[in-house]
Amino acid sequence: MTTSIAGTRPPSAAAVQVGALLVQAEEARLAGNYRAGSELAREAAALAESAGDGAGRAEALRSMANQLLRLGEQEAAVTACREAVAVLEKLSDDAAICEVLTIQAMPLNELGMHEEALEVLATARDIAQRLGDRDLLYWVHNRTGVVHSSMGDYDRSTEYLTRALTMVEGMDAEARFCILNNVGDNAVYQVTKLRNRGDAAEAEALLHNALGYVDEALRLAREAGNPFRESICLDNYGMLRALDGDFAAADRMIEDSRAIAAIHGYRSLESGALQHQARVRLMRGECDRAIDGLLAALDRALAAGETPMVMEIHRELSEAYERIGDFASALAHYRSFHTLERTAHNHVAAARARMAVHQFELDNARLEAELARVRSAELEAATLSWQRQATEDPLTGLPNRRGAELRLPTMTAHAGDLCVAIADVDLFKGVNDRFGHFVGDEVLRRIASVLRDSVRDSDLVARLGGEEFLIGLDGVDLDEGRARCEVLRAQVAAYPWESLEPGLSVTISLGLAVIPADGDLPAAMTRADQRLYDAKRAGRNRVVAA
Ligand code: GH3
Ligand code: MG
Ligand code: MG
Repeated sequence: MTTSIAGTRPPSAAAVQVGALLVQAEEARLAGNYRAGSELAREAAALAESAGDGAGRAEALRSMANQLLRLGEQEAAVTACREAVAVLEKLSDDAAICEVLTIQAMPLNELGMHEEALEVLATARDIAQRLGDRDLLYWVHNRTGVVHSSMGDYDRSTEYLTRALTMVEGMDAEARFCILNNVGDNAVYQVTKLRNRGDAAEAEALLHNALGYVDEALRLAREAGNPFRESICLDNYGMLRALDGDFAAADRMIEDSRAIAAIHGYRSLESGALQHQARVRLMRGECDRAIDGLLAALDRALAAGETPMVMEIHRELSEAYERIGDFASALAHYRSFHTLERTAHNHVAAARARMAVHQFELDNARLEAELARVRSAELEAATLSWQRQATEDPLTGLPNRRGAELRLPTMTAHAGDLCVAIADVDLFKGVNDRFGHFVGDEVLRRIASVLRDSVRDSDLVARLGGEEFLIGLDGVDLDEGRARCEVLRAQVAAYPWESLEPGLSVTISLGLAVIPADGDLPAAMTRADQRLYDAKRAGRNRVVAA
């Protein structure tokens, strides 16, 4: 019994390096340093791929996707997620697949591909439920809430986020922060919507709760020392404060959010803060200042190519100009908004098409790998079957002459002598003539099993052809060999042949020769054959030894 060495083998140098890079990438992520983090993760993914380390590669791709998402590189994030899922499917790691899908939903959502986002989340929810994993499930609910919020379905979003929040009671701070912050973000829109609808009481209750949630979120962000979280949270907090009528506090918080985003290079957070500052001014009735702010935010968003934000700013500018009675400017911005909205639809369609191509390529690569695997398995099976055909007798299942030729030299290498006997069925032609070939074949099969069952495992029984068999007796001298052959002869003669065919009886004759270790095998075979001839001449059903 050997113990497995694989389990205790030290990890390869590459695996160690992948692990170290991943630790650094995670540290960068926790510090909000997503640019450096995503680069480290990319490096880890490439290294893991060349080292054939699937689990390491999947983890690196996941980390990369998470950070690209924060940097606004949505398509690259989706691509990384899909590659991670492809790797994880091979490893059958459902929990990890579920987690990656919850990440993938975010860039899809940002790209405006809401249906696709909900689709991957539905798959993730199925997995989480099947696994009975609460940690995964609340996270899926959380992300589903975010997507519904982006789609403008704030009620449904609140429903999902609240469910997630009750599940996360007393769980880790990072998850709790995210959900609290998302509730706050969604509340900004839902409060406005409720007020516009005339549900004032409901709006105030929601606002009151949300202020409590973002307050806790801000505390958690600061405790974690994560500037991204602090910035995003301050922005939401500020907007809720503005909705609550405390414009001074709102200004302060959103300006803090903007400053943190500017320092750390969170471009979309910075643009968002600028836009929200202007929105607060509009809420206070300071339309001119709001327009100045919005125009500045517009320049910035245009320069950064942040189209969704540009669109939103145009719409807000249109509203602001309308309020000050400048209808020409209002119309101009409304037109820009409308044109961009149409373009955005085309962008989503184009992104969809690009991603479909990417998915196709991934599927194709997977199929080809599968095909190659099947082909090599088929080839292996074919080789095995060909080898068997070449060395095995199909009638009896014994080795054939070729099989015996391969086996015998390995036996002669053992200590001691080797006896070779050739057995021939007596008057077999008569068996065929009287009972038919079918019975003849069955007789050969039964002789084969009688012989096989009457020798040791280390001995050889082969069918040389026709009704001739070869027996190799390992490590025995001539006397011992003669005794063993006598047993074989007697076993065949004593076999109840009448049960096969009434009137049938079968005997064999054997010629035996011994070859000393390193002796001449073909010469021994010839001698055995001569002794067989002697046995036949002496009357059959007997053993003659050289
Ligand atoms: P002897 O005792 O002298 O060996 O007599 P014999 O009849 O066995 O000798 P002979 O060599 O004349 O006949 C062998 C017969 O074995 C001829 C052939 O038809 C038959 N035979 C050879 N291979 C097979 C087989 O695979 N199946 C069947 N049913 N018969 C076979
Ligand atoms: Mg014969
Ligand atoms: Mg013969």
